[in-house]
Amino acid sequence: MKVEVAVEAEPAGTAGALALSADRLDDVFLLANGDSFFDFNWLSLVPALARDDWTMHAALARGVRGGRYGRVELAGERISRFLPKGESGLPINAGIYLVRRRLLERIRTAPCSLENDILPTLAADGELLGHSAEGAFIDIGVPEDFERAQLALPAFLRRPAVFLDRDGVLNHDDGYVHRPDQVRWVDGAIAAVRWLNDAGYYVFVVTNQAGVARGYYGEMDVRALHDWMQGELHRAGAHIDAFEYCPYHPEGTVETYRRTSDFRKPGPGMILKLKGDWGIDEAGSFLIGDRDSDLQAAAGAGIAGHLFNGGNLLNFVRKLVPARRRIPGSD
Ligand SMILES: [Mg+2]
Repeated sequence: MKVEVAVEAEPAGTAGALALSADRLDDVFLLANGDSFFDFNWLSLVPALARDDWTMHAALARGVRGGRYGRVELAGERISRFLPKGESGLPINAGIYLVRRRLLERIRTAPCSLENDILPTLAADGELLGHSAEGAFIDIGVPEDFERAQLALPAFLRRPAVFLDRDGVLNHDDGYVHRPDQVRWVDGAIAAVRWLNDAGYYVFVVTNQAGVARGYYGEMDVRALHDWMQGELHRAGAHIDAFEYCPYHPEGTVETYRRTSDFRKPGPGMILKLKGDWGIDEAGSFLIGDRDSDLQAAAGAGIAGHLFNGGNLLNFVRKLVPARRRIPGSD
């Protein structure tokens, strides 16, 4: 990541600092306090982009204890008001926002505070959405929290993974599906991925694509289809962390792909590769597949496997992951 730093000649306040970066901002951008850590599904802010009836969309952290945070009251999906610091059941402002550029028109004074001068007015005008989510939250604004963050962050970032077979789990297995127009999503499939994203799991796809070895379509088609699926998921605030596919088959007609491979399920190769690349937490990781070969791959990789026989994938997933995972040491 390339980071540019805009230095204030005079303290400009949080909104003033944003105005200093005006020439670098897109029409919609993410704004995040540099010192708060909130482990939530950032894409959950994205579905609101389908509409234009808001200027800022704030991520709110639910279930945070302690009296040093201001609290936020929601009326439906909009923030109705900000309450003074104190312990209560209400969520707190996590300091992470999706912002429309027109916000800049409201920053007229210097210095200018986002929290004190801008957000209350936006809320009063009905221009401030809030999305409340559960997730480990650290406001790294005091030395003890800085200390805690050093120790806790590695544990937060190590997460269990759900490995999903593709054909027969995410989309109906209609045989060698390789174009968007052939995809019939399984009921609840997109919502199931979103559920797992919100729950703090990595979500991977592991799919045999023997159609490549058989010459029915190319790797380009597989990748283009996965990009398209990812786009569909994004619109719903969901995402796949990585797609792994195996193009090989021992009886392929395309010579480059005619081979026995440990990556082809029931081999565990794809799962083992992802485990290595992402440093996942094996305890709590599992696979969902619609064939015995999926379950054999899971067993070979040392993780649990669950057979999905059709129906609604969200219902199936919610039985396996009823709630967001709890992280030791988090609020
Ligand atoms: Mg399958």
